[in-house]
Amino acid sequence: AKRRGRNTWQTFTPELARQQHDRVQVEAQLRRALENEEFRLVFQPLVNLADGRVRSAEALIRWRNPALGELSPDLFITHAETTGDIVRIGAWVIQSACRQMAAWRKAGLAPARMAVNVSYRQFLTEDLVPLVAQCLKDNDLPGDLLELEFTERVLIEDAPDTHRTFEGLRQLGVVLTIDDFGEGYSALNYLRRLPIHGLKLAQAFLHGVPGNESDAAICQAVAGIAQALGLDLVAEGVESSAQRDFLLGLGVRTGQGFLFSPPMDPDAFIAYLRRTSP
Ligand code: C2E
Ligand code: CA
Ligand code: CA
Repeated sequence: AKRRGRNTWQTFTPELARQQHDRVQVEAQLRRALENEEFRLVFQPLVNLADGRVRSAEALIRWRNPALGELSPDLFITHAETTGDIVRIGAWVIQSACRQMAAWRKAGLAPARMAVNVSYRQFLTEDLVPLVAQCLKDNDLPGDLLELEFTERVLIEDAPDTHRTFEGLRQLGVVLTIDDFGEGYSALNYLRRLPIHGLKLAQAFLHGVPGNESDAAICQAVAGIAQALGLDLVAEGVESSAQRDFLLGLGVRTGQGFLFSPPMDPDAFIAYLRRTSP
Protein backbone atom coordinates (compact mmCIF):
# COMPACT_ATOMS: atom_id res chain seq x y z
CA ALA A 1 0.00 0.00 0.00
CA LYS A 2 2.48 2.61 -1.13
CA ARG A 3 0.35 5.11 -2.96
CA ARG A 4 -2.83 5.32 -1.04
CA GLY A 5 -5.43 7.71 -2.38
CA ARG A 6 -5.48 7.29 -6.13
CA ASN A 7 -4.60 3.62 -6.22
CA THR A 8 -6.44 2.43 -3.15
CA TRP A 9 -6.94 -0.96 -4.75
CA GLN A 10 -3.29 -1.74 -4.10
CA THR A 11 -4.03 -1.81 -0.39
CA PHE A 12 -6.11 -4.90 -0.92
CA THR A 13 -3.73 -6.82 -3.14
CA PRO A 14 -1.82 -8.70 -0.42
CA GLU A 15 -5.10 -9.61 1.26
CA LEU A 16 -6.49 -10.87 -2.02
CA ALA A 17 -3.33 -12.82 -2.68
CA ARG A 18 -3.54 -14.39 0.75
CA GLN A 19 -7.16 -15.33 0.21
CA GLN A 20 -6.31 -16.83 -3.13
CA HIS A 21 -3.51 -18.82 -1.53
CA ASP A 22 -5.84 -20.02 1.23
CA ARG A 23 -8.41 -21.07 -1.32
CA VAL A 24 -5.91 -23.09 -3.33
CA GLN A 25 -4.61 -24.72 -0.16
CA VAL A 26 -8.04 -25.57 1.19
CA GLU A 27 -9.12 -27.01 -2.13
CA ALA A 28 -5.97 -29.12 -2.44
CA GLN A 29 -6.40 -30.52 1.07
CA LEU A 30 -10.11 -31.03 0.51
CA ARG A 31 -9.47 -33.31 -2.44
CA ARG A 32 -7.67 -35.84 -0.25
CA ALA A 33 -9.60 -35.39 2.98
CA LEU A 34 -12.08 -38.19 2.35
CA GLU A 35 -9.36 -40.78 1.62
CA ASN A 36 -7.42 -39.60 4.64
CA GLU A 37 -10.50 -40.00 6.85
CA GLU A 38 -10.36 -36.45 8.09
CA PHE A 39 -14.13 -36.01 8.30
CA ARG A 40 -16.44 -36.98 11.10
CA LEU A 41 -20.05 -36.31 11.96
CA VAL A 42 -21.44 -34.67 15.07
CA PHE A 43 -25.09 -34.69 16.04
CA GLN A 44 -27.35 -32.01 17.45
CA PRO A 45 -30.71 -32.82 18.99
CA LEU A 46 -33.95 -31.30 17.75
CA VAL A 47 -36.18 -31.18 20.78
CA ASN A 48 -39.80 -30.80 21.68
CA LEU A 49 -39.87 -27.22 23.00
CA ALA A 50 -42.56 -28.00 25.55
CA ASP A 51 -40.90 -30.89 27.37
CA GLY A 52 -37.31 -31.00 26.09
CA ARG A 53 -37.56 -34.52 24.68
CA VAL A 54 -35.45 -35.35 21.66
CA ARG A 55 -37.35 -35.68 18.38
CA SER A 56 -34.48 -36.17 15.96
CA ALA A 57 -30.80 -35.63 15.31
CA GLU A 58 -29.17 -33.37 12.74
CA ALA A 59 -25.87 -34.69 11.40
CA LEU A 60 -23.25 -31.96 10.92
CA ILE A 61 -19.89 -32.54 9.29
CA ARG A 62 -16.57 -31.68 10.91
CA TRP A 63 -13.22 -31.52 9.17
CA ARG A 64 -9.89 -31.67 10.95
CA ASN A 65 -6.88 -31.36 8.67
CA PRO A 66 -3.27 -31.82 9.84
CA ALA A 67 -2.09 -28.73 7.98
CA LEU A 68 -5.10 -26.44 8.30
CA GLY A 69 -6.59 -27.45 11.65
CA GLU A 70 -10.32 -27.57 12.24
CA LEU A 71 -12.26 -25.73 9.55
CA SER A 72 -15.83 -24.49 9.73
CA PRO A 73 -18.26 -26.28 7.41
CA ASP A 74 -19.68 -22.91 6.37
CA LEU A 75 -16.29 -22.28 4.77
CA PHE A 76 -15.20 -25.60 3.34
CA ILE A 77 -18.61 -26.71 2.09
CA THR A 78 -18.62 -23.66 -0.18
CA HIS A 79 -15.18 -24.61 -1.50
CA ALA A 80 -16.30 -28.20 -1.98
CA GLU A 81 -19.32 -26.97 -3.92
CA THR A 82 -17.06 -24.95 -6.19
CA THR A 83 -14.71 -27.85 -6.91
CA GLY A 84 -17.46 -30.45 -7.09
CA ASP A 85 -15.93 -32.48 -4.24
CA ILE A 86 -19.19 -31.94 -2.37
CA VAL A 87 -20.78 -34.76 -4.35
CA ARG A 88 -18.39 -37.38 -2.93
CA ILE A 89 -18.30 -35.78 0.50
CA GLY A 90 -22.08 -35.48 0.56
CA ALA A 91 -22.45 -39.15 -0.32
CA TRP A 92 -20.13 -40.00 2.57
CA VAL A 93 -22.28 -37.89 4.91
CA ILE A 94 -25.50 -39.69 3.89
CA GLN A 95 -23.84 -43.10 4.20
CA SER A 96 -22.26 -42.35 7.57
CA ALA A 97 -25.44 -40.83 9.00
CA CYS A 98 -27.46 -43.89 7.95
CA ARG A 99 -24.83 -46.21 9.39
CA GLN A 100 -24.88 -44.30 12.69
CA MET A 101 -28.67 -44.43 12.82
CA ALA A 102 -28.64 -48.18 12.20
CA ALA A 103 -26.05 -48.70 14.95
CA TRP A 104 -28.10 -46.69 17.43
CA ARG A 105 -31.24 -48.65 16.56
CA LYS A 106 -29.40 -51.91 17.00
CA ALA A 107 -28.23 -50.75 20.42
CA GLY A 108 -31.85 -50.09 21.31
CA LEU A 109 -31.73 -46.32 21.67
CA ALA A 110 -32.04 -43.99 18.72
CA PRO A 111 -33.63 -40.66 17.91
CA ALA A 112 -36.84 -40.98 15.90
CA ARG A 113 -35.21 -39.48 12.84
CA MET A 114 -31.87 -38.49 11.37
CA ALA A 115 -31.61 -35.24 9.41
CA VAL A 116 -28.82 -34.74 6.87
CA ASN A 117 -27.83 -31.58 5.01
CA VAL A 118 -27.77 -31.93 1.25
CA SER A 119 -26.03 -29.38 -0.98
CA TYR A 120 -27.79 -28.01 -4.05
CA ARG A 121 -24.93 -29.55 -6.04
CA GLN A 122 -26.01 -33.04 -4.94
CA PHE A 123 -29.47 -32.31 -6.31
CA LEU A 124 -27.88 -31.55 -9.68
CA THR A 125 -26.55 -35.10 -9.97
CA GLU A 126 -28.72 -37.99 -11.11
CA ASP A 127 -27.34 -40.20 -8.38
CA LEU A 128 -29.06 -38.75 -5.34
CA VAL A 129 -32.18 -40.95 -5.38
CA PRO A 130 -30.35 -44.25 -6.05
CA LEU A 131 -27.72 -43.28 -3.46
CA VAL A 132 -30.33 -42.65 -0.77
CA ALA A 133 -32.21 -45.82 -1.73
CA GLN A 134 -29.02 -47.86 -1.43
CA CYS A 135 -28.09 -46.35 1.95
CA LEU A 136 -31.56 -47.10 3.35
CA LYS A 137 -31.40 -50.65 2.03
CA ASP A 138 -27.85 -51.34 3.23
CA ASN A 139 -28.76 -50.22 6.72
CA ASP A 140 -32.24 -51.67 6.83
CA LEU A 141 -33.81 -48.28 7.53
CA PRO A 142 -37.38 -47.23 6.69
CA GLY A 143 -37.32 -44.09 4.52
CA ASP A 144 -39.17 -41.92 7.01
CA LEU A 145 -36.29 -42.26 9.47
CA LEU A 146 -34.25 -40.09 7.15
CA GLU A 147 -34.78 -36.38 6.63
CA LEU A 148 -32.97 -34.34 4.00
CA GLU A 149 -32.45 -30.63 4.58
CA PHE A 150 -31.74 -28.46 1.58
CA THR A 151 -31.67 -24.71 1.01
CA GLU A 152 -33.70 -22.50 -1.23
CA ARG A 153 -30.78 -22.57 -3.62
CA VAL A 154 -32.02 -25.97 -4.83
CA LEU A 155 -35.33 -24.40 -5.77
CA ILE A 156 -33.69 -21.44 -7.44
CA GLU A 157 -31.41 -23.59 -9.61
CA ASP A 158 -34.59 -25.43 -10.58
CA ALA A 159 -32.83 -27.96 -12.79
CA PRO A 160 -35.08 -29.97 -15.10
CA ASP A 161 -34.63 -33.06 -12.93
CA THR A 162 -35.35 -31.38 -9.60
CA HIS A 163 -39.00 -32.40 -9.58
CA ARG A 164 -38.17 -35.97 -10.48
CA THR A 165 -35.59 -36.11 -7.71
CA PHE A 166 -38.09 -34.78 -5.17
CA GLU A 167 -40.66 -37.30 -6.29
CA GLY A 168 -38.12 -40.13 -6.12
CA LEU A 169 -37.14 -39.16 -2.58
CA ARG A 170 -40.75 -38.80 -1.61
CA GLN A 171 -41.46 -42.29 -2.91
CA LEU A 172 -38.71 -43.63 -0.68
CA GLY A 173 -40.61 -42.09 2.21
CA VAL A 174 -37.80 -39.64 2.96
CA VAL A 175 -38.79 -36.43 4.77
CA LEU A 176 -37.93 -33.22 2.92
CA THR A 177 -37.25 -29.94 4.69
CA ILE A 178 -36.24 -26.47 3.52
CA ASP A 179 -33.32 -25.25 5.66
CA ASP A 180 -32.65 -21.61 6.53
CA PHE A 181 -36.09 -20.65 5.33
CA GLY A 182 -36.41 -16.92 4.66
CA GLU A 183 -32.70 -16.27 4.34
CA GLY A 184 -32.46 -16.76 0.59
CA TYR A 185 -35.19 -16.09 -1.86
CA SER A 186 -38.27 -17.65 -0.34
CA ALA A 187 -40.11 -18.24 -3.58
CA LEU A 188 -43.38 -19.12 -1.95
CA ASN A 189 -44.82 -20.75 -5.06
CA TYR A 190 -42.42 -23.69 -4.58
CA LEU A 191 -44.13 -24.50 -1.33
CA ARG A 192 -47.23 -25.41 -3.31
CA ARG A 193 -45.50 -27.23 -6.14
CA LEU A 194 -43.04 -29.48 -4.36
CA PRO A 195 -43.67 -32.28 -1.87
CA ILE A 196 -42.13 -30.56 1.14
CA HIS A 197 -42.75 -31.68 4.70
CA GLY A 198 -41.31 -28.86 6.72
CA LEU A 199 -39.37 -25.64 7.10
CA LYS A 200 -36.49 -24.63 9.30
CA LEU A 201 -36.65 -20.96 10.13
CA ALA A 202 -33.38 -19.18 9.34
CA GLN A 203 -31.46 -18.53 12.56
CA ALA A 204 -31.00 -14.84 11.79
CA PHE A 205 -34.65 -14.07 12.51
CA LEU A 206 -34.46 -15.56 15.97
CA HIS A 207 -31.49 -13.51 17.15
CA GLY A 208 -33.44 -10.39 18.07
CA VAL A 209 -36.42 -12.24 19.47
CA PRO A 210 -38.42 -11.45 21.55
CA GLY A 211 -37.15 -7.83 21.82
CA ASN A 212 -36.86 -6.87 18.16
CA GLU A 213 -40.30 -6.26 16.72
CA SER A 214 -39.56 -6.88 13.06
CA ASP A 215 -37.70 -10.13 13.79
CA ALA A 216 -40.62 -11.22 15.94
CA ALA A 217 -43.05 -10.31 13.16
CA ILE A 218 -41.10 -12.35 10.59
CA CYS A 219 -41.05 -15.39 12.90
CA GLN A 220 -44.77 -14.98 13.39
CA ALA A 221 -45.37 -14.69 9.64
CA VAL A 222 -43.32 -17.81 8.86
CA ALA A 223 -45.15 -19.71 11.61
CA GLY A 224 -48.41 -18.61 9.98
CA ILE A 225 -47.31 -19.81 6.54
CA ALA A 226 -46.21 -23.16 7.92
CA GLN A 227 -49.43 -23.61 9.82
CA ALA A 228 -51.64 -22.65 6.90
CA LEU A 229 -49.82 -25.02 4.55
CA GLY A 230 -49.66 -27.87 7.05
CA LEU A 231 -45.85 -27.82 7.17
CA ASP A 232 -43.74 -28.70 10.19
CA LEU A 233 -41.74 -25.77 11.46
CA VAL A 234 -38.44 -26.06 13.31
CA ALA A 235 -36.68 -23.12 14.92
CA GLU A 236 -32.91 -23.41 15.05
CA GLY A 237 -30.44 -21.28 16.95
CA VAL A 238 -32.59 -21.29 20.09
CA GLU A 239 -30.23 -19.89 22.71
CA SER A 240 -32.46 -18.54 25.49
CA SER A 241 -35.55 -19.61 27.36
CA ALA A 242 -37.14 -16.29 26.36
CA GLN A 243 -36.79 -17.38 22.72
CA ARG A 244 -38.22 -20.80 23.53
CA ASP A 245 -41.23 -19.26 25.28
CA PHE A 246 -41.79 -16.88 22.39
CA LEU A 247 -41.75 -19.80 19.94
CA LEU A 248 -44.13 -21.85 22.07
CA GLY A 249 -46.45 -18.83 22.00
CA LEU A 250 -46.40 -18.96 18.20
CA GLY A 251 -47.28 -22.65 18.26
CA VAL A 252 -43.79 -23.77 17.17
CA ARG A 253 -43.21 -27.17 18.70
CA THR A 254 -39.69 -28.14 17.72
CA GLY A 255 -36.43 -26.34 18.32
CA GLN A 256 -32.70 -26.80 18.10
CA GLY A 257 -29.94 -24.76 19.62
CA PHE A 258 -27.38 -24.13 22.33
CA LEU A 259 -30.17 -23.74 24.93
CA PHE A 260 -30.55 -27.50 24.65
CA SER A 261 -27.23 -28.71 23.34
CA PRO A 262 -24.43 -28.00 20.87
CA PRO A 263 -23.66 -30.68 18.26
CA MET A 264 -22.07 -33.70 19.94
CA ASP A 265 -20.09 -36.84 19.19
CA PRO A 266 -22.25 -39.97 18.89
CA ASP A 267 -21.66 -41.19 22.47
CA ALA A 268 -22.47 -37.81 23.97
CA PHE A 269 -25.60 -37.62 21.83
CA ILE A 270 -26.84 -40.96 23.15
CA ALA A 271 -26.03 -39.93 26.72
CA TYR A 272 -28.11 -36.79 26.14
CA LEU A 273 -30.94 -38.84 24.68
CA ARG A 274 -30.88 -41.13 27.68
CA ARG A 275 -30.82 -38.20 30.10
CA THR A 276 -33.81 -36.47 28.51
CA SER A 277 -35.98 -39.58 28.06
CA PRO A 278 -38.13 -40.56 31.01
P1 C2E B 1 -27.12 -25.44 9.18
O1 C2E B 1 -27.53 -26.65 8.42
O2 C2E B 1 -28.09 -24.30 9.24
O3 C2E B 1 -26.74 -25.97 10.63
C1 C2E B 1 -26.96 -25.25 11.82
C2 C2E B 1 -25.68 -24.57 12.29
O4 C2E B 1 -25.98 -23.77 13.41
C3 C2E B 1 -24.62 -25.55 12.74
O5 C2E B 1 -23.36 -24.98 12.43
C4 C2E B 1 -24.83 -25.58 14.25
O6 C2E B 1 -23.69 -25.96 14.98
C5 C2E B 1 -25.18 -24.13 14.51
N1 C2E B 1 -25.99 -23.94 15.70
C6 C2E B 1 -26.82 -24.83 16.28
N2 C2E B 1 -27.44 -24.28 17.34
C7 C2E B 1 -27.00 -23.00 17.44
C8 C2E B 1 -27.28 -21.92 18.36
O7 C2E B 1 -28.07 -22.01 19.29
N3 C2E B 1 -26.63 -20.74 18.11
C9 C2E B 1 -25.78 -20.59 17.06
N4 C2E B 1 -25.20 -19.40 16.90
N5 C2E B 1 -25.48 -21.60 16.20
C10 C2E B 1 -26.10 -22.78 16.38
P2 C2E B 1 -22.20 -25.81 11.72
O8 C2E B 1 -22.18 -27.22 12.22
O9 C2E B 1 -20.97 -24.99 11.84
O10 C2E B 1 -22.65 -25.88 10.21
C11 C2E B 1 -22.75 -24.72 9.44
C12 C2E B 1 -23.40 -24.99 8.12
O11 C2E B 1 -22.57 -25.83 7.29
C13 C2E B 1 -24.71 -25.75 8.24
O12 C2E B 1 -25.75 -24.86 8.59
C14 C2E B 1 -24.84 -26.32 6.84
O13 C2E B 1 -25.32 -25.36 5.94
C15 C2E B 1 -23.39 -26.63 6.51
N6 C2E B 1 -23.17 -28.06 6.78
C16 C2E B 1 -22.80 -28.68 7.92
N7 C2E B 1 -22.68 -30.02 7.76
C17 C2E B 1 -22.99 -30.26 6.46
C18 C2E B 1 -23.05 -31.45 5.66
O14 C2E B 1 -22.85 -32.57 6.13
N8 C2E B 1 -23.41 -31.29 4.36
C19 C2E B 1 -23.67 -30.07 3.81
N9 C2E B 1 -24.01 -29.98 2.51
N10 C2E B 1 -23.64 -28.93 4.53
C20 C2E B 1 -23.30 -29.02 5.85
CA1 CA C 1 -29.34 -27.85 8.46
CA1 CA D 1 -30.22 -24.10 9.12
